Amino acid sequence: MYDIERIRQDFPILGREVYGHPLIYLDNGATTQKPRCVVDAMTDEYLNVNANVHRGVHFLSQQATELHEQARETVRQFINASSTTEIVFTRGTTESINLVASCFGQALMQAGDEVIVSEMEHHSNIVPWQLLQSRRDISIKVCPITDEGRLDLATLERLFTPRTRLVSLCHVSNVMGTVNPIREVIAMAHAHDVPVLVDAAQSVPHMAIDVQQLDCDFLAFSGHKVYGPTGIGVLYGKEQWLDRMPPYMGGGEMIDRVSFERTTFNQLPYKFEAGTPDYVATTGLARALDYVSALGWSDIEAHEHGLTVYARQQMASIDGMRFIGPSDDAVVSFLVGNIHHLDLGTLLDRLGIAVRTGHHCAEPLMHRMGVEGTVRASFALYNTRQEVDTLVAGIRRVARMFA
Ligand code: PLP
Repeated sequence: MYDIERIRQDFPILGREVYGHPLIYLDNGATTQKPRCVVDAMTDEYLNVNANVHRGVHFLSQQATELHEQARETVRQFINASSTTEIVFTRGTTESINLVASCFGQALMQAGDEVIVSEMEHHSNIVPWQLLQSRRDISIKVCPITDEGRLDLATLERLFTPRTRLVSLCHVSNVMGTVNPIREVIAMAHAHDVPVLVDAAQSVPHMAIDVQQLDCDFLAFSGHKVYGPTGIGVLYGKEQWLDRMPPYMGGGEMIDRVSFERTTFNQLPYKFEAGTPDYVATTGLARALDYVSALGWSDIEAHEHGLTVYARQQMASIDGMRFIGPSDDAVVSFLVGNIHHLDLGTLLDRLGIAVRTGHHCAEPLMHRMGVEGTVRASFALYNTRQEVDTLVAGIRRVARMFA
């Protein structure tokens, strides 16, 4: 049974108050809270194991290396990659996408080649391609979305040309909660011999991901959005692509032999991991993934889906409520009447309710939907129906102030 009260005990921060009210944390799309086991594992490693990984013959270094490499294996299992050589640790989704844009772009794209993204992307899946564009003169094709907030698949199909080299697409929209038909898109792209990068920042925290089943070529996610620490993330890449890409940064760890005449590079995945990795954060990430796995996806998904549907139902009865996007998954974006999203967010905060306001790092999407910003409530495995009720009561209260 999904024992929500017991689960909440694992997250000490949920017990605190904000402005004299119990904290209601609904900004999980931005970052999630951390269970005690994650913080304890990291504290333990710093206090009892700490040593730099990979290079040491001494006991602590070997123990730290073992934890770090076990964490890679935990990630591999979590997304069902076929090998740990395909799991690159990065600082997060943003760095993972930048790595692909930079290295794939350098090795496998020429002036005039094309990358396809969509109108619903986070800035971190737009700007890296623009940077590549300024260096390599590639072009960026943008798949439109419907008024409902879904990918226009018919138009997507028409965007493919002989110059298309990559599709880079979010699995779940961080603003609208749209779950894209990613398998269909991957099949479509592969039919054109085009690889696909999946920005899974908002899907890995909410659903089981199997990279082999998806058959995606790259997949990026952030530890902090899936109950893990900040500053650690993952790039999954099929070996066939990673092998053909040059290193991202130069330095220690990523080399095989170095001389002033010639340097050779380390094997996968270390070729992409220059410098001392955040080996304590990788341990924290592994404990977070273990925590999620122990609860089990079917219960988590049922719980979060139930909350999202309930929130949409309850909120729909508020006068002037306008939803932005379909909220397939754990995210409800909205505006109420003429109330500015910042005012609404600020007044909800005074009631202890943490939501996010603004453009959510998706300015082109705001433009497409004809809004400056939205209020976004995003749910996690520890949120409750009572919290949704308090949110709805809070919105009503603010709306009355503006009536
Ligand atoms: N992609 C999506 C869809 C996101 O929601 C986010 C963060 O909100 C990112 C990418 C960037 O993640 P990070 O800042 O952890 O690198």
